[in-house]
Amino acid sequence: MNNRDQTTGFAKRSLGQNFLVDQDFIDKIIKAVDPQPGETIIEIGPGRGALTQRLVNSGVKVIAIELDRELVPQLREQFKDSPNFRVIEDNATKVDFARIGLGGSEVRIEFKVVANLPYYISTAILQHLASQRSCFSSLILMFQREVVGRITAEPGTRERGFLTVLVESAFSVRKLFDVPPNAFRPIPKVVSSVVELTPKPPLVTDNSEFRDLISQGFMQKRKTILNNLKGKYSNILDVLKKSEIDPQRRAESLTLDEWIRLFGFIN
Ligand code: SAM
Repeated sequence: MNNRDQTTGFAKRSLGQNFLVDQDFIDKIIKAVDPQPGETIIEIGPGRGALTQRLVNSGVKVIAIELDRELVPQLREQFKDSPNFRVIEDNATKVDFARIGLGGSEVRIEFKVVANLPYYISTAILQHLASQRSCFSSLILMFQREVVGRITAEPGTRERGFLTVLVESAFSVRKLFDVPPNAFRPIPKVVSSVVELTPKPPLVTDNSEFRDLISQGFMQKRKTILNNLKGKYSNILDVLKKSEIDPQRRAESLTLDEWIRLFGFIN
């Protein structure tokens, strides 16, 4: 059965398809990306090509990654006369960006990334982009505003969680602007926001161990850091003392520097 929803103009809700139609916001996003001659830009989820068209017109090399197998041939048709466009049918949360970066030669390319992303992949894609951040020079990403609130949440605020610390450890984050629901078709129920992420050099030696620590630390947000961590790290009380972190604090109150200090004493 065709799972395209007739009431939303053939958009697939299951793939979070809300297509940008407002030219002013398309302009603002392209301005934030700032395509420069000679650059290669990866667009995740090009959809019907609203941003793609503008990127291709600017003359940069565009590599689009689209999961919807019905949209891929449409994109190939739309850009068949543009040698600077390529589309890869794949799940962006699984793509090996380092391999794309080699591009058949030994010289690695650093990409800019642009994406208007569905809510359901926000955590998975941010984790994946963070783990491959050495492939990117900058990322302009649009998420549901709530997700941007979480990834920019300051220590001591309720929104601060696993995703905040993970993103903060990998990127400098700058919120750029909100995008209202009526900029999309079909019109979503929520406001979106655009952020700029700039990759940071590695702050810790073992990223997956660090991810485990913050994931465990935020396991139950109402519990103290000691209670969340004691099941996994038997010497945690000693480690917290050495790190000069009060064991009765909650994970959301810790700064990135404190997480890194804590991690240093665990290893
Ligand atoms: N960029 C277009 C725009 O702004 O109009 C489309 C944005 S729409 C919110 C999200 C797009 O991401 C859709 O085209 C959808 O099919 C695609 N998508 C969803 N999940 C994906 C995934 N895991 N990997 C790659 N593309 C995905």
